[in-house]
Amino acid sequence: MLCTFNAIVLKSDDYSNSDKILTVFSKEEGKIPIMHKRAKQIKKNSNTVSQMFSVSEFVCFKGTNFYIHNSSSVLKSYMGIQNSIQKLAAASYIAQMLNYSYENYQKDERAYNLILYCMNKIDKADNDTSIKYIALYQMKLLAITGYAPVLDSCIVCGDTKNLCSFDYQQSGVLCENCSRDKNKYNYLPQEDLNLLTYLLNIPLNKENLEKIDLNNVINLIKLLHCCLNDKIEKPISTYDFLISML
Ligand SMILES: [Zn+2]
Repeated sequence: MLCTFNAIVLKSDDYSNSDKILTVFSKEEGKIPIMHKRAKQIKKNSNTVSQMFSVSEFVCFKGTNFYIHNSSSVLKSYMGIQNSIQKLAAASYIAQMLNYSYENYQKDERAYNLILYCMNKIDKADNDTSIKYIALYQMKLLAITGYAPVLDSCIVCGDTKNLCSFDYQQSGVLCENCSRDKNKYNYLPQEDLNLLTYLLNIPLNKENLEKIDLNNVINLIKLLHCCLNDKIEKPISTYDFLISML
């Protein structure tokens, strides 16, 4: 059976001398592996559907283990990302986090909308602003996969006052008393807590990250990465590259 869908390439692996397996995320079908026969024979300098992060319309046969590529056309190839090593690091991280957060054939339209929204912003923004979309993406990904950190009350006692520390294992804030009792004191400044709350609650089309301080955002990228890493339980190879670029 032939099916048609739009999808973004998260991963592209050589399969044989001429074939590739693409891992893509689509609005309609979720995360799917596509066997793309003779993909490597296509001219290297042309806009190919197997290029990382490109968004294409795919027409595929549904096979047993893979979707089999029949035809495709590139809709978007994010030249701003392809031409900046820092943006490339951000996009690689974002794509790997999505790949690791979903199983093959798992559907989630929100995840597709989220990655396209952030890729578009990273593609077009200046380098500093593009970094801020990593934090927004991390927080929204945690939220849609059911792992949003608890930010409005202490995860141990429920108190809403004196929230001053963050617990990575339980993914939430601690009040001063509980953080002392538990001997877990990862200081979280009020400003960072406000920013985390903003990232969690703001609808994508209402966000405005321009005025946010870049150094605060970099700290939060590290914090949110710890939360994601805890859930994913796989080595995230793109993270070190990303951090080296910040
Ligand atoms: Zn408490």
